[in-house]
Amino acid sequence: MPAAPPLDPREPHIALDALRHRHAEAGDRPTRIRVDLDALTHNLRALRAHTGVPTMGIVKANAYGHGLVPVALHLQAQGIEQLGVAFVEEGIALRQAGVTVPILVLGGIFGPQAAQFIAHDLEITVSSLSKLRQVEAAAESLGRKATVHLKIDTGMERIGVHSYSAGPFIEAAVASPWCEVKGVYSHLASADDPESPMTAQQLQRFLDACAHFERIGAPMPLRHLANSGGVLHFPQTHLDMVRPGIALYGVLPDPASRPTVDLRPALSLVSQVVYFKVVEAGHPVSYGATWAPSQNTRVVTLPIGYGDGYPRSLSSRGAVLIRGRRYPIVGRICMDQFMVDIGADGTAYNEDEAVLIGAQGDARIRCEDVALDAGTIPYEILVGLNDRIPREYRGGARTG
Ligand SMILES: *Cc1c(COP(=O)(O)O)cnc(C)c1O
Repeated sequence: MPAAPPLDPREPHIALDALRHRHAEAGDRPTRIRVDLDALTHNLRALRAHTGVPTMGIVKANAYGHGLVPVALHLQAQGIEQLGVAFVEEGIALRQAGVTVPILVLGGIFGPQAAQFIAHDLEITVSSLSKLRQVEAAAESLGRKATVHLKIDTGMERIGVHSYSAGPFIEAAVASPWCEVKGVYSHLASADDPESPMTAQQLQRFLDACAHFERIGAPMPLRHLANSGGVLHFPQTHLDMVRPGIALYGVLPDPASRPTVDLRPALSLVSQVVYFKVVEAGHPVSYGATWAPSQNTRVVTLPIGYGDGYPRSLSSRGAVLIRGRRYPIVGRICMDQFMVDIGADGTAYNEDEAVLIGAQGDARIRCEDVALDAGTIPYEILVGLNDRIPREYRGGARTG
C-alpha cells in the first residue's frame, strides 16, 4: 500500500489515481449485493446434518434480501423438500419462475385470495374454523382439493387456533372433503434465546394439540415447529420437519443465539469509493452538521444510502472496510450517499472497494454487527436491502 501523501485541504477534489480509469457498463452500479450460493448449499447441508429431518426453506421477503427466485431455484436444485413464503403473491412468483417443490404460504390467508392458492398449487395455512370454511368453498368452486397446514397458537398470539381449544378445529379439518391436511404447525416466540423456558412450554402445548389426531383415529400429519432458533437450540422441536429462515442464510437470529451449527454468511454488501477529499478540523460533514473532525482528516464518499435500505440509524455509528481496514461512518447517512473518515494516515482511491457487510482481507463486518450498531435485528438489515441494489450470484453450479 502506498504511504499516505501529506494532508493538505487544498488537495484537488479528484481521485489520487485518477488515471486508473476503467469504463463502466451501463447499469454497472458501483454498489451491489453478492450472494454466495455455495454458502447456501453449505448451510442447508449443515442444518440437515444437525436436524436429520426434511427442511422447509423459508424464502419470504425476497429470500431475506438475497433474491426470491434465484435462491428458491438454487435450493430446489439442492433437493430441498419444501419452501415457505409469507404471502400468496410470493408463492405465485415462484410458480411462475418454474419452482415445482411444495410451497407453504405461512401468513394468515385473506379470504378472497383463497382460490389463488389452489389455482397455483400453493399449500395454505388454515388458522381458524372460518378460514377453513373459506378454503373449502374456494376448493369446491374450483373442483380441486386444497392442501392445508393447520396453524396452532401455542403462545405467539398472532394467528392460529389456541392449542387448548384445537380439538373441534382439527376434527373439522380432518372431516373436510375439500381439504387434505398435510401438516400441523405452530411458531416459537422465544427460541432465539437458548435460556428461555417458553420454548419447552410451547412444545408441550403443541404436542398436546397434536395428540388429538390420535384421539380421533386420524393419521398424524407432518408436525413442524422449529424456526432457526428452534433448529439451533432446541432439538426436541425438530419433530417431522424444520423451518429455518435466517440460519439458512448463515446469520444468527439474535445476540443471545449460539452457533451450534457451522454457518456461513451468504450475503455481502459492497460499494466503491466515488469521492475523496480532506476535511479541515471543525468543518462539519453531512446534513444537520452533526459531526466534525477535531483534526484535518481524509473523508471518502460512498454511493449508497437509506434509499437502498442501508439504515440511517448507522449515522456516525456504523463502519465499513476499505483496503482491509475498518473505518467509521461520519455524519448523517443521506438517501443515496454517506461519508467515511479514513483518518490522517488512511489512503483510499476512487473506485476502491468498500465492504459494508462481508469480508475484505482478514477483516469482516457481520450482518449481526451492523444490526447491533443500527439498534435492530439482523432480519431487518437483510430484508431492508431493496431492489435498487443489483444482486450478483456466485457459485452454485454443482447440485445434489
Ligand atoms: C419467518 C418464519 C420462519 C423462519 O424464521 P427464522 O427465524 O428466520 O428461522 C419460520 N416459521 C414461520 C411461521 C415464519 O413466519
